[in-house]
Amino acid sequence: MRNRTLFFLVCLFAAAMSLFADQPSKPKSAVLDEQVAALLSKMTIEEKVGQMTQVTIDVVAKNDRAAGGWQYLDPEKLRNAIIKYNVGSILNVAGSAYTIDNWHAIITQIQDVATKQTRLKIPIIYGIDAVHGANYTIDATIFPQNLAMASTWNIELMKKSGEITAHEVRASGIPWNFNPVLDIGRQPLWPRLFETFGEDPHLASVMGVAYVKGLEGEDNDIGRRDKVAACLKHYLGYSFPISGKDRTPAYIPEYLLREKFVPSFETAIDAGAHTVMVNSSEINGVPVHASHYYLTELLREQLGFKGFVVSDWADIINLYARDKVAATPKDAVRQAVMAGVDMSMVPLDFSFYDHLVDLVREGSVLMSRIDEAVGRILRVKLELGLFDSAYPDKKLKEEFASQTSQNFALQAARESIVLLKNQDNLLPLAKSKKILVTGPTATKLASLNGGWTITWQGNDESLYPKNKDNVLQAIEKKFGKANVSYVPGTKFTEEIDIAAAAQAAAQADVVVLCLGEDAYCETPGNINDLTLPAAQVNLVNAIHATGKPLVVLLAEGRPRIIRDIVDKAPAIVAAFLPGMEGGTAIAEVLAGEVNPSGKLPITYPKHVNDFTLYDHKFSEHSSAFQAYDPQFPFGHGLSYTTFSYSDLTLQKTKIRLGEELKVDVTLKNTGIRAGQEVVQLYLTDLVASVTPSMKRLKGFQKIELAPGESTKISFILHQDDLSFIGRDNKPVVEPGEFKVAIKDLSQVFMLE
Ligand code: BGC
Repeated sequence: MRNRTLFFLVCLFAAAMSLFADQPSKPKSAVLDEQVAALLSKMTIEEKVGQMTQVTIDVVAKNDRAAGGWQYLDPEKLRNAIIKYNVGSILNVAGSAYTIDNWHAIITQIQDVATKQTRLKIPIIYGIDAVHGANYTIDATIFPQNLAMASTWNIELMKKSGEITAHEVRASGIPWNFNPVLDIGRQPLWPRLFETFGEDPHLASVMGVAYVKGLEGEDNDIGRRDKVAACLKHYLGYSFPISGKDRTPAYIPEYLLREKFVPSFETAIDAGAHTVMVNSSEINGVPVHASHYYLTELLREQLGFKGFVVSDWADIINLYARDKVAATPKDAVRQAVMAGVDMSMVPLDFSFYDHLVDLVREGSVLMSRIDEAVGRILRVKLELGLFDSAYPDKKLKEEFASQTSQNFALQAARESIVLLKNQDNLLPLAKSKKILVTGPTATKLASLNGGWTITWQGNDESLYPKNKDNVLQAIEKKFGKANVSYVPGTKFTEEIDIAAAAQAAAQADVVVLCLGEDAYCETPGNINDLTLPAAQVNLVNAIHATGKPLVVLLAEGRPRIIRDIVDKAPAIVAAFLPGMEGGTAIAEVLAGEVNPSGKLPITYPKHVNDFTLYDHKFSEHSSAFQAYDPQFPFGHGLSYTTFSYSDLTLQKTKIRLGEELKVDVTLKNTGIRAGQEVVQLYLTDLVASVTPSMKRLKGFQKIELAPGESTKISFILHQDDLSFIGRDNKPVVEPGEFKVAIKDLSQVFMLE
């Protein structure tokens, strides 16, 4: 009897299962839509507006940090923010990085209130600027800054940095990262240049997509416990202030905007990135936070962005307080929300919340717009899996800053270093050489890391890890302490003991001059003159006068002008900001253990009044009086080996519209050691209805070859590669002749 019942039950279960299996399962996005709609239907105006409100952690933190830097939250302030004001998002650190355990405690405390003590139990989405690794978690793996990552031209490493950063940020309990910076670095004075992937839209697009895929996963499944949501910033045109100062106006014609500044965002949106942060400033007199055109027509209707848009820091109130396009703070909120901002990084109070609740009640902001914004935010929270578990996953701690991850950061640092000049093969230096190290960046790990390292400005070295080498320490380890002497010479802008440095040079075989900049970011990094400060130039002159060979090492976030010292330095190495492993990587390059393979992702200007970039127009390089004359061109970078290029072959010399074109070239390592070369393909539209650029990068591959080895490399050019932004501000491809150039080789084909 019992057996029969069991048999019956088993049959019933099997039948039920087969019925279930026959049901087509709903697509994930439809399920998400239903979940979002169900939540929205239960929410009050206040609960909805709260979801659109983001405050900084200072608003809910105790005023004083405890011993050991431990940050405690204030339970009263926390309940006030999350329960009274229904706040949906919190960001940042108060002061400096926390330990992973401190982060776990903070996130747990926040989610305990949000998911246990509120009516609808909606989790908080915490956001952080992890722009070169999890830089706000103590002892995380710290990568080179984006400009240096771009110097590697290594797509795999870029993706890996995204993967490792995602892992370590999520291991800290945080699911949302305010990176990648997809602003195009075409204004070298701008203090955030180092956060960009350089001046070229193609390079920035490729690196940006690799990073987004690293952060979010190949299929953008951010519900995975080791992935985080990306935030593309700062949409749009932020990086091109005419004054060079941060958060000042840009004037960008629509054609240029779409030709140079839109593509990196467009490709990352196509790659599925979940959130976007807005340009803090203005384009052509219109603050982007108040622009329906940029935030809705272009971003949503044309570029197809589906995620949510967060404002930048205080930039909604800035429409009133700074930009003067709103007569009242309340109208600033109305303008921004109606333009398309979904979440306000308020971040210091609840004014946005109060104003927006009023605006909805009085009908100045429609509930449909609120539902749209909140729906987008809830969807990302759902996709992140925060409703299933909003708490830190302790298991992720095991792989946090693993040796393997740190090795990737070291490899990225190595590949980011650009050998700009190496007259008579001064480099690499034999291990027996007596080296004098001098200059302001020699002993500053902060100069290798830049802003967003442990603190916002990155310049508090007392908080830096003690086990990472600055340049001097790394050189001492590599060449032996007995072979290395050190005299500071100068601070960044102030001489200390240049005479002593020159005297010490007499005892050395070679002098390594460590020049550049202290750490900075955003407005505190503004400068009025791109020239390397006089104190540092004087140091070079004094060392040069001793007759000793000198190596100039540049650790800097932007290309400080070095025209007056270039001829005096037989060897020049640009490290930009290679991160925590930068000292080690630099010493390895100097010693020849690593063969440099970095290439400039920017034009290194020679003159402060000539910022002509590599993709300039023909008129900008038409005669000796009108010459493109950079210190070092975009894409430049030497190696300790040599490469030759041959057999540039086009599969066809005539193609039809829409047809692809295969391009082959042979690369040979003609030197005596292994090395990596970045093969760069440039295209020129020889005649076009909008004046064409002299060349535009359309493809690159990083190739490693043993001495004597050669290989054939192929590229495929697609129709998009031939297009440009036409007179109607839309992409167009025009028939005619095109030139393909790789290194010094070129071939012409005809598009019929
Ligand atoms: C910066 C953003 C950053 C935000 C949050 C702003 O000042 O412009 O890049 O994500 O602060 O820290």
